Amino acid sequence: MQTTVFCANDSEKLAAAGALLRGGGLVAIPTETVYGLACSAFRPEAVSRVFAAKGRPSDNPLIVHICELSQLSLLWAEIPPEALRLAEAFWPGPLTMIARKHPSVPDEVTGGLDTVAVRFPSHPAARAVIAAAGVPLAAPSANLSGSPSPTSAAHVCRDLSGRIEMILDGGDCDFGVESTVLDLTRTPFAVLRPGSVTPEMLRSHIPDVITDPAVLRPLAEGEAARSPGMKYRHYAPNCPVIALSGPGAGSAQYIRANRREGDAVLCFEEYLRTFADCPSVSYGREKDAADLARGLYASLRLLDGGGHARIFAQCPPLSEEYLAVTNRLCRAAGFHILHLDEKGAEL
Ligand code: AMP
Ligand code: MG
Repeated sequence: MQTTVFCANDSEKLAAAGALLRGGGLVAIPTETVYGLACSAFRPEAVSRVFAAKGRPSDNPLIVHICELSQLSLLWAEIPPEALRLAEAFWPGPLTMIARKHPSVPDEVTGGLDTVAVRFPSHPAARAVIAAAGVPLAAPSANLSGSPSPTSAAHVCRDLSGRIEMILDGGDCDFGVESTVLDLTRTPFAVLRPGSVTPEMLRSHIPDVITDPAVLRPLAEGEAARSPGMKYRHYAPNCPVIALSGPGAGSAQYIRANRREGDAVLCFEEYLRTFADCPSVSYGREKDAADLARGLYASLRLLDGGGHARIFAQCPPLSEEYLAVTNRLCRAAGFHILHLDEKGAEL
């Protein structure tokens, strides 16, 4: 299959993407979080093609994207009143909410669950494509399962060229990590995947929001995943990754003391020069959670396939502000994480 790449600013191409999607085609679209691989949420055969193109396990459900609140009644059996409060505060934007599904939502989208995750993206091209398609779009991240999520059209091309009809290039993504996923079907409401909308931001609207404990540790043997995505190995490089959480000065000292020939470093921008003598990539400024999130996946892609023995990753301290970045790095490290003080000693 030939994959064509168009500029996401071109209104004719956006209309063509809409028609393609209505007819069961697959289109990768820019969003404010990461690029999504979109299909009509109401065409089960197109949904199945998305799973096949990505190599995604069929029980890992997709998020459905809308461009107006009236589309919620097509997707949810009942609209929880709290969802409307949160929508008022955070939509359009990087928050996904899970509620009981409407019977007409195909099982292919939800992986057989009786709930469905919905998001209203803020990216103008994403909204324009959903509007042009005239239906809500199911869209997981537009990467091959197991590789880092794509934050540019070039990343999508590398993973999915020849497997999908169209890629819309909208430049680099603003946030760079996937949306916050909030489960509204059990109380207290729980964050199943941290993103740019932090638990603290959610709690200023719904006071008792919690973070699911499986966000920062592996599932225990026999433990049921509240989100099927928690069961699966996400991005993990071929070599061991050691996540070093704490002040940058401490993790830098630890790396200098412990690294060996063949090791590589994923570091904060402030430390890049001090690691000039080994393969090193920076992903953002230490104290800037948004900057780190924006750069993380592209930096991991740069390090990937470099034939490194191990990757040491400087990782922010554990706090809600940095939870999205820490969670992705913990997963890439197979939860191999060391907590260090400012001198590089293990806590
Ligand atoms: P992605 O599509 O790659 O952004 O991943 C979507 C994430 O949301 C995965 O971790 C899914 O397991 C999770 N998810 C989607 N729908 C549901 C749902 N109905 N219940 C629980 N988790 C969900
Ligand atoms: Mg994904």
